[in-house]
Amino acid sequence: MEIKELKGLAVANSIKEQIVSKVKRLKANGVNPCVAILRVGDNPDDMAYENGATKRMAGMEIDVKHITLDGDISEENCLDAIEKLNRDETVHGVLILMPLPKHIREDAVRKALSPEKDIDGITSANMARLFMQREGMVPCTPKGVVELLKYYEIPLQGKRVLIIGRSLIVGKPLALMLLNENATVTIAHSRTENLSKLSSEFDIVVCAIGKARFLTKEFVKDGAVIIDVGINPTPDGGITGDVEYETVSKKASAITPVPGGVGSVTTTILAKQLVETCERQYLK
Ligand code: NDP
Repeated sequence: MEIKELKGLAVANSIKEQIVSKVKRLKANGVNPCVAILRVGDNPDDMAYENGATKRMAGMEIDVKHITLDGDISEENCLDAIEKLNRDETVHGVLILMPLPKHIREDAVRKALSPEKDIDGITSANMARLFMQREGMVPCTPKGVVELLKYYEIPLQGKRVLIIGRSLIVGKPLALMLLNENATVTIAHSRTENLSKLSSEFDIVVCAIGKARFLTKEFVKDGAVIIDVGINPTPDGGITGDVEYETVSKKASAITPVPGGVGSVTTTILAKQLVETCERQYLK
């Protein structure tokens, strides 16, 4: 069986074309799309993500404003910084790098951010819209998974999909998005029993747990589509996914690599949601 590698860059580039033309149109109407990236502390993973996102935004002529707060900043001052971004008319979208230091309550941050600037879909208002199948901004990584599956024309309607991981940022929103695509969705997590047996019954398996090379060939049925969301650091400074690529790719019909898979689409979705919120506000 010929196995298909589902590369993220092709997906990102196809979306990028639409974004670039939308940015041109916005600029012609006097709107200069700008995203603020708010980082608390100097976690190297956050900094690497911020650098990558900045380069990608620059490639689409989108401005980036960097707000960097000390790791020991009080919750109150962090919320003030968010409030300031809500009021800043030159900023159209805000990306808050998570997880935040433990002394800052993520719930308070989610509440503080204006839903109109919430381009990563973290606020309750945008989550509720997703839940109710209304238009709104959604978390970028699961949206990237859906865009990737659509780009490679992997049928979702009526298909049985297993999502391993139930976080607020990946697993849960992805389940709702796939449900909206008429897939039949099951969610597994750390308490799921006989996961390898369960997993080997599914047409499509998405793994988003943050455990390097966890998903081995025993979890996979012949011909399944495997989507690896995991990003795990390797001792040599690289990254690896949640899937044991070498063995699983021999059984799967299609699989995303890490790096070069889902992660390559995320920032482009962020840019897409940024220009869409600009359009809603300024090009009615
Ligand atoms: P979280 O730690 O928030 O959630 C992990 C989930 O995996 C939990 O639901 C947990 O279950 C489940 N889990 C953990 N261990 C197991 C296990 N042994 N068997 C079954 N389920 C398990 O992680 P995130 O959702 O934030 O991220 C998941 C991965 O995706 C990480 O590697 C992260 O780096 C990556 N990621 C990639 C992005 C991208 O752009 N490509 C963006 C965001 C994340 P339980 O709820 O029971 O604890």
